[in-house]
Amino acid sequence: MIVGRPFLTVDQIQKKVRELADSISADYENKNLLAVGILKGAFVFYSDLVRMIRVPLTVDFILASSYVKSNTSGEVKLMHDITEDTTDKDVLLVEDIVDTGITLNYIRERILMKGPRSLHICAFLDKTERREVEVPLDYVGFAIPNEFVVGYGLDYDNKFRNLPYISIFKKRT
Ligand code: 5GP
Repeated sequence: MIVGRPFLTVDQIQKKVRELADSISADYENKNLLAVGILKGAFVFYSDLVRMIRVPLTVDFILASSYVKSNTSGEVKLMHDITEDTTDKDVLLVEDIVDTGITLNYIRERILMKGPRSLHICAFLDKTERREVEVPLDYVGFAIPNEFVVGYGLDYDNKFRNLPYISIFKKRT
């Protein structure tokens, strides 16, 4: 297995997270922000993002997965649901990467059924080429090509999540 040079460096990542946090801070002034991190992959991005957001917020998490190794299974498994009441909340879903859109679409519809005051989505990476289900993305860090990436919370087989940068992952054949 090869994890190559940074595809997105620590500096590029931090600069982008700051920009996203600035936009979110401006948009959520005087709102009741509930930031929902989608685990496991978004845990690093989420913790950077919420620390740069300058409006009050509450936190919650949802644990869902549609992936087996680097191939999507197309099925979403929910392992942990949010615990906060969403009725008077402006929910912001925070995702690491959107690929086919299946996971995010499932989570979005699930939260919408709980009747939040508003629901928006922030995704750090967007692989637009691979989209199968359209999901409205309100804040996007980087649009990236169709490559499998690891680091900054993103894994291969639950490894490499602790890399501080994002790298394209190649399997040695
Ligand atoms: P989707 O349901 O949009 O196809 O897949 C979303 C999930 O698949 C992400 O939350 C992430 O866990 C995983 N995923 C999609 N593309 C990649 C990738 O390039 N690298 C890694 N590590 N995970 C990915």
